[in-house]
Amino acid sequence: MRQSQLLLPTLREAPSEAESVSHRLMLRAGLIRQLAAGIYTYLPTGRRVLRKLEAIIREEMDHAGCQEVFMPAMQPADLWRQSGRYEKYGPELMRLKDRHDREFALGPTHEEVITDLVRGEINSYRQLPVTLYQIQTKFRDEKRPRYGLLRGREFMMKDAYSFDADWDGLHASYQRMYDAYHRIFSRCGLHFRPVEADAGTIGGEGGTHEFMALADIGEDTIAACDRCQYAANLEKAGYRIPEGDIRSTGDSAAYPEPAKIHTPNVRKIDELVQALGASADKMLKTLLFLADGKPVAVIVRGDHEVNEIKLAGLLQADKLELADQETTESLTGAAIGFAGPIGLSVPVILDYSAAAIGSVIAGANVTDYHWKNVRPGVHFEITMLGDVRNAAIGDGCPNCAEGKLRMSRGIEVGQVFKLGTKYSEAMQANYLDAAGSEKPVIMGCYGIGISRVMSAVVEQHHDEQGIRWPLELAPYQVHVVPVSAKDGLQMDIAGKLYGDLKSAGFEVLLDDRDERPGVKFKDSDLIGVPIRIVVGRQAADGVVELRYRNRGEAQLVSTEEALALVRGYFGS
Ligand code: ATP
Ligand code: MG
Repeated sequence: MRQSQLLLPTLREAPSEAESVSHRLMLRAGLIRQLAAGIYTYLPTGRRVLRKLEAIIREEMDHAGCQEVFMPAMQPADLWRQSGRYEKYGPELMRLKDRHDREFALGPTHEEVITDLVRGEINSYRQLPVTLYQIQTKFRDEKRPRYGLLRGREFMMKDAYSFDADWDGLHASYQRMYDAYHRIFSRCGLHFRPVEADAGTIGGEGGTHEFMALADIGEDTIAACDRCQYAANLEKAGYRIPEGDIRSTGDSAAYPEPAKIHTPNVRKIDELVQALGASADKMLKTLLFLADGKPVAVIVRGDHEVNEIKLAGLLQADKLELADQETTESLTGAAIGFAGPIGLSVPVILDYSAAAIGSVIAGANVTDYHWKNVRPGVHFEITMLGDVRNAAIGDGCPNCAEGKLRMSRGIEVGQVFKLGTKYSEAMQANYLDAAGSEKPVIMGCYGIGISRVMSAVVEQHHDEQGIRWPLELAPYQVHVVPVSAKDGLQMDIAGKLYGDLKSAGFEVLLDDRDERPGVKFKDSDLIGVPIRIVVGRQAADGVVELRYRNRGEAQLVSTEEALALVRGYFGS
């Protein structure tokens, strides 16, 4: 492609609203332009990268035995009611009506549509297993679209769905996908890690992994063991349950009696630490929640955070919300900040770690007072003991005896789920087994955020000057840059090199623009094509400069050598 003809509008500066490196670079390198919040156009080079990504995904999906389909983005609301998700999905679901006032949704995911397809087309065990996938635009009215393609409201996804006759089949289908995801993300040049995760609104009972691209800007926190393979999203990560539950410590005499302490206006844990000089891990933090409308008190150690996903799971609550100030004050009889477990008339859920710290400081349910020397299980009743907090740095690994947890940040680029019969039962997608009895199909679903992957790759592969595309994703493989468009000889040599490289099967961009060399080099670095060949003054003697974008070093070579080096680099 001749750059003078290409719609490749590079920018010196990124618009100020671009907050992440990848967003800035993708705007500056002329890959994307925003139409509305979270909604983007792909310009020609952006589209090329996207197509390469899609090609890798198609190859690996096909290799894993999947079949490609293409489903509508516009989906009848009725289908979503059948699965029970029309209400549950909330405001993220883009809803619309047709001219007859019939309700539709723009697909944020396709479990309903594919289950509807399969219940119509598959009715015998002989037709199973089957895995179908598509590459398609998804719509989610995200509360906070941001970071460019990382969190869009309209974005590209590969979604796949497996259908098996039994759970063993699902385990095998899941593993095939898991392995395919490994290959896909490796080929994209991503540093990634699969982690155990929570199933969220997609649901299902069989477990799930997220594939996380490691990046500080990632919105997810990953807890990983420093000894074993354990890694999980913080939403889900467990911790080694401490031994020595206080309730089993028999000798009460060893502990002083509880005493009320005056703590005027001391409401928060850090204020309490300041005022009393005690450490937060010797305090209890009491929060009131409404679980499906019913109040519960949840208590964690002062230095820990409640994990609402775990809490909702433990309570089997569909809806969990922190009680507002008014509700909290009426349940505790005290101003906000003085809630504690003693004398509360609601169920008390205690985190394991909070039960294992001997005597502690806790709110007194009286404004301006706390208790000290409180012993869980002795001075208040524990309705339920469980893991209801976020794992923390230094916690014991839940999977091995010695490891400790570390935290890092990740961008979720893909997720694999064992759905089981959640959708097939709700929507009656059944098949007849060999004995002729009717059974629900066992499903799995598997997503990759294609546009998000593109951003994640840029987030990981760049330097001060611009993008450094991994080989398989680069919009072009070679950038031929004649230094001066006014120099006929240079342009001839560059033109010949361009032609030779193209005939050898490479994707080549020729910067034939009449621009200053500095501008051309800056753009070239920004665009990030893996190999740049500069045709300058020495070209008259048959010498050009070849530079690898990922390595930085430049070498002077003959045009023949340049061609050989390009071949070698791309392994062709
Ligand atoms: P997130 O937690 O980031 O909102 P999710 O878990 O809701 O994502 P899934 O339903 O698992 O997303 O969708 C499959 C994949 O689609 C995700 O792994 C992610 O890569 C991608 N994805 C999800 N939401 C977006 C979005 N708003 N913009 C771009 N990609 C997205
Ligand atoms: Mg997900």
